[in-house]
Amino acid sequence: MKRVVKRPVVKSKKASAIKKAAEKAVRARAMMPSEVKVGIKIFQIVKGDPGESPKGDRFWGVVNYRERLIIIAEDLFAQDVQMTILHEILHALLLAIGRGGLDRVNEGLVNSMECGLFQLIQDNPELMRYLQEKF
Ligand SMILES: [Zn+2]
Repeated sequence: MKRVVKRPVVKSKKASAIKKAAEKAVRARAMMPSEVKVGIKIFQIVKGDPGESPKGDRFWGVVNYRERLIIIAEDLFAQDVQMTILHEILHALLLAIGRGGLDRVNEGLVNSMECGLFQLIQDNPELMRYLQEKF
């Protein structure tokens, strides 16, 4: 359901590279879709504070099923935004198909599916366009 931020401490020598990546993330933010349809439900996707664990670790994202809302942390790199959106959509999808009850089990499944599916989407744009066709 949620992901924990484990960011390394920023070293000054890498600051400019990190700043460039942050600027790229800002540009990517404009392209982030504002909603996603999962099953019969439409979830809004917004930037914001997804909260934190009881230990104080900040989450990268969270899906709120009741409010049909996906919240993505503001300070993620562009690729992490993409992957976190996919991650939260997978949680919503599991719930939509009746498999949302086992969150602890699902977290590992969702993490694995997120990585595998993201790579598949990134590496196969022609296949993704083909799968979008409605015959
Ligand atoms: Zn999760």
